[in-house]
Amino acid sequence: MSTTVIEDAHVVTMDGGRAEYAGGHLVLENDRITAVGPGPAPRPEGARVVDGRGCLLTPGFVNTHQHLYQWVTRGLAVDATLFGWLTELYPVWAGIDEHAVHTAASGALSWLARTGCTTSTDHHYVFPTGGGDLLAAEIEAARAVGLRFHPCRGSMDLGRSAGGLPPDEVVEDRDAVLAASADAVDRWHDPSPGSMLRIALAPCSPFSVTGELMREAAELARDRGLRLHTHLAETLDEEDFCRERFGCSPLEYVDSLGWTGPDVWFAHAVHLDDAGVKRIGETGTGVAHCPSSNARLGAGIARSADLRGAGVAVGLGVDGAASNEAGSLLEEVRHALLFARAKGGPQALTVRDALEMATLGGAAVLGRSGDIGSLEPGKLADLALWRIDGLPHADIADPVAALVLGSPPPLDLLLVGGRPVVERDHVLGVDEDALAREATAVHKALLRKAGR
Ligand code: ZN
Repeated sequence: MSTTVIEDAHVVTMDGGRAEYAGGHLVLENDRITAVGPGPAPRPEGARVVDGRGCLLTPGFVNTHQHLYQWVTRGLAVDATLFGWLTELYPVWAGIDEHAVHTAASGALSWLARTGCTTSTDHHYVFPTGGGDLLAAEIEAARAVGLRFHPCRGSMDLGRSAGGLPPDEVVEDRDAVLAASADAVDRWHDPSPGSMLRIALAPCSPFSVTGELMREAAELARDRGLRLHTHLAETLDEEDFCRERFGCSPLEYVDSLGWTGPDVWFAHAVHLDDAGVKRIGETGTGVAHCPSSNARLGAGIARSADLRGAGVAVGLGVDGAASNEAGSLLEEVRHALLFARAKGGPQALTVRDALEMATLGGAAVLGRSGDIGSLEPGKLADLALWRIDGLPHADIADPVAALVLGSPPPLDLLLVGGRPVVERDHVLGVDEDALAREATAVHKALLRKAGR
């Protein structure tokens, strides 16, 4: 049995009473936490001891929306709207293959780890013919980096010739999508409590997917005990598309297809009226709030405080790196707080509310509340140890404010299931310099392939 003791840190547990311990300790054995509390820790013989002086210990963050493959297509269409940006990027994405996805996923997941993330989802929805086994490529990348991973088998089956937004070359046949989804579940889905990998199903959006695929994907997911994910109410263009094509709002449309409930989470949910906020709350549907991406594309800002007030589980997401070049989950915590206050006033969200969205909120959205999201005995040892005794933070009185409002602090240690993934700002499982070179080469190759 391997035991680690972290002592003398400011411990933010996010437990039911939101206990915090200045100079507290945490003990973990193998992959689970066995003790958390104030003062010095019990020191079992042979334990690894981590000196937490000058550090803040938090639960690891949960990223609830991402498109990992976009890491190699960053910095394009930088001043465009969502529909303009998508139209420019679809032809580039049409060129992705296993190598491109593996490189992109390695880069994106490494940066998530560097910014406090211990569990990430992915929403992969571009499967070009001949591109190879793209889901396998990203799963291999997640294993190497060491993050807990919830990849969504995404899909698009509504091409331009049928009235959708994406070009026909990047959409798939509905039966092929459903067969590939079932195959992904058979190969990789692990429903066990300590699971490192769970599959979800995720048709992309109302303007790139048919209602039939939405319905059948929901049936398959519920038959196999999987969660469902999609983009919803991201922009006013999407609202116009749904009103013209279906005569209702995006939420009313997906609600009519069976796409609300505690097993469903939406990315964005920006454009909602009061009835929409209430409907999401009463159905137990979750939301992945992606403040930086929404601001980058000028889409608007979700009513995160209203959603939380309506009882909605709200997690944070960086969204794809092509619409959030930073890809930093800690930055989402800060932006969630700042944008909520810019929109709703100083009481809209506290610094601890923002941290809660990144931890407990994300765990609830992914259906992992029993396992992750807080530092409590019995939960998985997924945690982040931030150094806050340097120049940028040392004199900020409240350690949580130092993390949320201050500069991104050095990450001394990131553990996933007790295993070190980041030490002193270095991702242990990858060579970051080599990865940066490879990502650049893949980016250039994709642009060449697209005739750019
Ligand atoms: Zn997205």
